[in-house]
Amino acid sequence: MLKAIPALLLASLAAPAATYHFGAIWDGAKVWKDACITTEGERIAGVGPCTGPAIDLTRYTAIPGLIDVHTHLTYVLENRVAQSARPAATVFLAQENARKTLETGVTTVRDLGAADYADIAMRDLIAQGQMAGPRMFVAGYGLLITRGRTPSPNTADGVTEVLRVVRQQVAAGADVIKMYGSTGSGRDVTGFQTFTFEEMKAAVDAAHALGKRIAIHTYGPDGARDAVRAGADSIEHATGMDDATIAEMARRKTFYVPTIDHNRYYVDNYRKLSYPPSAVDDLQGYISRNLETARQAFRGGVRFAMGSDAVYTMFGENTRELGWFVKAGMTPEQALRSATANGAELLGMEKSLGAIRPGFMADIAAVEGDPLADIEVVIQKVRWVMKGGAVVVDRTK
Ligand SMILES: [Zn+2]
Repeated sequence: MLKAIPALLLASLAAPAATYHFGAIWDGAKVWKDACITTEGERIAGVGPCTGPAIDLTRYTAIPGLIDVHTHLTYVLENRVAQSARPAATVFLAQENARKTLETGVTTVRDLGAADYADIAMRDLIAQGQMAGPRMFVAGYGLLITRGRTPSPNTADGVTEVLRVVRQQVAAGADVIKMYGSTGSGRDVTGFQTFTFEEMKAAVDAAHALGKRIAIHTYGPDGARDAVRAGADSIEHATGMDDATIAEMARRKTFYVPTIDHNRYYVDNYRKLSYPPSAVDDLQGYISRNLETARQAFRGGVRFAMGSDAVYTMFGENTRELGWFVKAGMTPEQALRSATANGAELLGMEKSLGAIRPGFMADIAAVEGDPLADIEVVIQKVRWVMKGGAVVVDRTK
């Protein structure tokens, strides 16, 4: 009689092993020269000297698939279907954003805010192989204080409502919580604190109690100070943080996701976005403050994760943030670490993402040139991308 084959073995039988030969491999920690990566199914089986036949990618350097911890994949600039049907068209139109993200070598994103749970639909369609795109960790609706006349599903005022909206996102299937802790978005670069410390603390505790992390958006220093003290896992955008806040972030190991390049995108596209010319000066001023804060935070020992805050037509430029990190004082390798090991740790996925290591997901980007000598190699010269053992981008021919 046949013995039952364990499910795990079946899975590995279903997807045969494959070996890829690279000129060099930066595995997330060290460089292997002239070496091979063997994949088995969706995971990496081995890394090291080549021993047998392999697919020839010796013109390239392999790096771990990159992690962009701040995207809005469901934001599309032109949705021209009838107003009543726009939400229903979003996921279809957002496929282009997902595909362009993969082309940058980004194989995982943390998507921080979407309407109608379109992000949850995309995450699940991608995970089931029905849509091409990066692995997604999503937030559902980001929490907002009352600002307009009509409340939306994410409006929360006071601790009780904050708890309700956090729990609703988790119940809907969110992986992470997003809270807008200050004003500032698009051409509006103000940074007035919105949620109070008590409200932030309630959101952090409610998220953590349900096993979820929380990202708090703040353009200004006041929201950052309170978000850090409240225990947020990452601080998005913040400028002007004082020494005490930076020291507290370093002590608590709070991640800083400055998203500097996001406003560069707005400057370059202000006409397309129908911003007035005066918006350019505001945005440029914000970029300078953002870069200066990044310099101070890096010097102060704060951990960074790479977040593009990509929206609309910015997809495909997801990794340009790494150029700003080098300007802020990082070596190319330190910048790469923000988009690999650090991103994985912020997601709580440090045992399966962010490194080329046996047992980790087979997420790999092949670049032409030395990424540790010049970060532009990562930004401009991605030629081949594998996600979960499947080749998803191939520009090697
Ligand atoms: Zn955002």
